[in-house]
Amino acid sequence: MDKKTLDHFKNERTLVVIKPDGVQRSLVGEVIGRYESMGLKLVGMKMLVADADHIEKHYTLDPGWKKSVGEKSIAGYKKKGLEPPSEDPIEVADAVLERLKKYMVAGPVVAMVWQGAHAAEIVRKITGGTEPLSSDVGTIRGDFVMDSFEMADADDRSVRNIVHASGNAQEAEAEIDLWFDKDELVEYTHVQDKILYDVDLDGILD
Ligand code: GDP
Ligand code: MG
Repeated sequence: MDKKTLDHFKNERTLVVIKPDGVQRSLVGEVIGRYESMGLKLVGMKMLVADADHIEKHYTLDPGWKKSVGEKSIAGYKKKGLEPPSEDPIEVADAVLERLKKYMVAGPVVAMVWQGAHAAEIVRKITGGTEPLSSDVGTIRGDFVMDSFEMADADDRSVRNIVHASGNAQEAEAEIDLWFDKDELVEYTHVQDKILYDVDLDGILD
């Protein structure tokens, strides 16, 4: 959603999916804890086993995703002095997508919607960069997994990076619609909302 169309920054929402490796690594609690500690509010959560169609829809919601992932991936190969599997970004992205479709249906995932000021950007910051080898220490992907594009490519599989997080608030709205029905999301006041967003902090000394 465009920030200007939100009635307040605190209502921004974003999608997080703990991927099959995150569930198998017993990191569900740790991942949730990191977003919770930031002050974000959990407004939807479910465990499910996704199917390949759903995963394809998820990654192709943004019509520009294939081109950008393909280009990023080709640039990554060249930077490492490696020959990309193709010069066509769409062809490279199709291969990435096929691997993602295997990875993301390999076991249960936990889908969540987190709400709060700048939710999408904050969640990306806590989650860390896509490739665990280079994700910052202190982020989920930087702290809990040691995978790399190079190793994943050599084994013809997706890089395992514990969580998916929407790239921005607009992407998040489309992804939330895909993963959740409206009645699966809960609108409520969290006691913490007051210390986070109340303008005057009235009532603390009452
Ligand atoms: P994310 O939003 O940080 O997960 O990253 P993207 O949306 O750009 O990519 C989605 C998924 O595609 C990642 O989690 C990876 O599995 C895969 N991917 C993205 N970029 C690359 C790349 O450069 N090389 C390879 N092999 N896979 C990639
Ligand atoms: Mg993405």
